[in-house]
This record gives sequence, C-alpha cells and structure tokens, in this order.
Amino acid sequence: MPATDAGAGAARTYVAGHRGLVGAAIVRALGRAGAPAPLTVERPSLDLREAAAVEAFFAAERPSVVYLAAARVGGIRANAAYPAEFLHDNLAIQTNVIHAAWRFGVQKLLFLGSSCIYPRLAAQPIREDALLTGPLEPTNEWYAIAKIAGLKLCQAYRRQYGFNAICLMPTNLYGPGDNFSLEDSHVLPALIRRFHEARLAGLPEVTVWGSGTPRREFLHVDDLADAALHLMAHYEGAELVNVGTGVDLSIGELASLVKRIVGYEGRLCFDPSKPDGTPRKCLNVDRVHALGWRHRIGLADGIEATYRWYVEHAREARGGAAQPAALAPDSERDGASAGESDVVASRRANLGTTAATLRA
Ligand code: NDP
Repeated sequence: MPATDAGAGAARTYVAGHRGLVGAAIVRALGRAGAPAPLTVERPSLDLREAAAVEAFFAAERPSVVYLAAARVGGIRANAAYPAEFLHDNLAIQTNVIHAAWRFGVQKLLFLGSSCIYPRLAAQPIREDALLTGPLEPTNEWYAIAKIAGLKLCQAYRRQYGFNAICLMPTNLYGPGDNFSLEDSHVLPALIRRFHEARLAGLPEVTVWGSGTPRREFLHVDDLADAALHLMAHYEGAELVNVGTGVDLSIGELASLVKRIVGYEGRLCFDPSKPDGTPRKCLNVDRVHALGWRHRIGLADGIEATYRWYVEHAREARGGAAQPAALAPDSERDGASAGESDVVASRRANLGTTAATLRA
C-alpha cells in the first residue's frame, strides 16, 4: 500500500486523544500541514474502552487515517494505586481502536508506545532491537506491558492481514498543554512550575531530589507531532521507530537551564540522599534519521516557549497554578506521569523540592 498523505489531503483523519499533550500537538501539526480539521470526539461521547461504542463510531464515521494518542497515562503513584486500570484501560483502548480501524478499512494507523517498553538496564542509547531483551522497570510495568501488547497487536495485524499500522516510541515529551500538576507532572514541567513559583514567592532556594547526575532526553511535543506526520507519509513497516533527539543532559544541567529561563535568582540545591534512578536513558535515533526526520526545536528554545505558554495559560493548564502555600508535601507527589520509566526515575528522584524548603 502506498504511503498515505498523513491526513493532509483527502484522507478522513481521526485523532484519538485530541485533548492530550500529544493528540493536541498532532491536531496542530495537521493544521500547519493544511489538512482539514480532523475528526475528534470528547471522551464523554466515546469512551474508547467500550468496544461496541468504538465499533459503532468507526462504522458511522469511516476514518481512513488514525492517530492513536489516547491512553491512560500516569506515574509511579498512579501505577501503584491502579495497576488493574493501567493494564486494562490501555489494553482495551488500543485493542478496540486497532481492531475497529482494521475492520472498517482504515488505510493507516499510528500507534504510540514509549521508552518505558525497553528493559530498565538496556544498553544506551537504546536501540529498537532492545525490546524484550530484559526485565522492565517495575514501577510502571503495567503500563509498559500494555504498550508492548499494543505494538505487538499492530505487528500481528500487519503480518496476518496486511494492516498498515506503524509504531513510534517517543522519548520524554514536553510542551504546551503539558501537565503541570504537583502530583504527577513530568520532570520538566515540574521544574518550570517550581522555579516560577519560587521566583514569585522570593524563595531563597529550590532543592531538587537526587545528585542531579542522571541523564535524560527531552523532545518538544511539536517535534514529535511533526515526526508522526512525517512517518505516516514516508514509513511503511512493522519495525518500531524511536523518536527523540538522541541528545541527553543531566538533571542538574536541565535544572540550571530551567532556572535561567524562568529567571529565578535563588540557589539551586540537590539532595543526594534521595534516589537517582536509572543513570542514563536516551534513545538511539539512527532509524528515524535514516527515514529523513530530525528534531528541530532546541531544548532551550522549547523550554522558553513552554514557559511562556505556562505563564499565559497557568489557570487552564492541567495541574493549574497553585500558590506556593498550596504546594503538596513530597509524600503526596511521588508519582511520575506518562508511565515512562526514565521520567519516573528522574521525577521520583529529582523533583522533591519540599514545601518546607520552598517556604524557607
Ligand atoms: P495525555 O494524558 O496528555 O492524553 C491522553 C489522552 O487520552 C487524553 O486526551 C484523554 O482524554 C484520552 N483518553 C484517556 N482515556 C480515554 C478513554 N477511555 N476514552 C477516550 N479517550 C481517553 O497523554 P499524552 O498525550 O502525554 O500521551 C499520549 C500518548 O503518547 C500515550 O500513548 C503515551 O504513552 C505516549 N507518550 C507520551 C509521552 C510523554 O512524555 N507525555 C512520552 C512517550 C509516549 P481526556 O482529555 O478526556 O482525559
């Protein structure tokens, strides 16, 4: 089957999860590409866990291109509290959508996994063929197992029925629409919020958990959306494709960068008594480079744009903009969202600016 036009032409494109960080970025990217507004449905009107409802939707709407960016996403605490839902909801959402897409003649589907599918001690930078070569990070194995089942489902439908599904494995993402919650945000938005609030409150120091030495990789979500459209147009294959920058930095370097961009002038401290997590998590991006895609948004530019977005949208941003007095104690926010083990590790290990420290 020839490559589709990624939804930029006559295709009837459905973006599942359009209100999320990734789904919203894909909708924006389609708009930039001149595509008609894609098909989207609010969750109350279509719960993707309901097989019959999903089938009825595909039967009625007949999309020809599907971006599957809907998932139950959450961190350590959420994974620990709701392992059944993390496994069940993600299995149900992806099974229902992939099956209905095949059954109702979708030409091409994009499935999103994540770097947490790889073994926790995979050789760095992580190549796609590291999949299923070792034990997973236990803190989010429920989510990772579901994601692995999703990509295997895509491969099985391709092998048996020639269904044209491709699987992208993004690294840690950030950008507009991110989750800035104190309870389950990623390391990068959490740092933005903490330095911002510390600046507003005139606090003398911000303490980051861990030694600051673990290394992580970050990709702006608009770059990911750009990669998604590019691969939908130019990639046909069963093999996974990592999507990242291939460049990592230490949590200490990241914290210093965010501190500078936010304009916080207090001290940045680390608490090495807190765990560091995996020392390094970075994707090998040779395959996506060979497919003609490279990231464009530099980390400093991306953080600056995200910080601007946060300041302009703080009230409507997920997680909102609490006043410093409303910060939750560490014990209430040990989770990592998006279920990525690298994010889990870095956030769990490195974001513990205590309310007491902030108020000091
Ligand atoms: P978000 O939580 O931001 O968005 C998830 C979306 O899924 C939301 O729009 C949500 O709807 C929707 N959704 C969840 N459950 C249901 C349901 N039962 N029925 C219908 N819709 C549902 O997640 P992200 O955008 O961050 O993640 C999207 C994908 O990208 C996931 O597969 C994730 O694994 C992957 N990814 C994300 C990374 C990251 O760093 N964020 C990194 C690597 C991969 P609603 O808005 O109503 O809640």
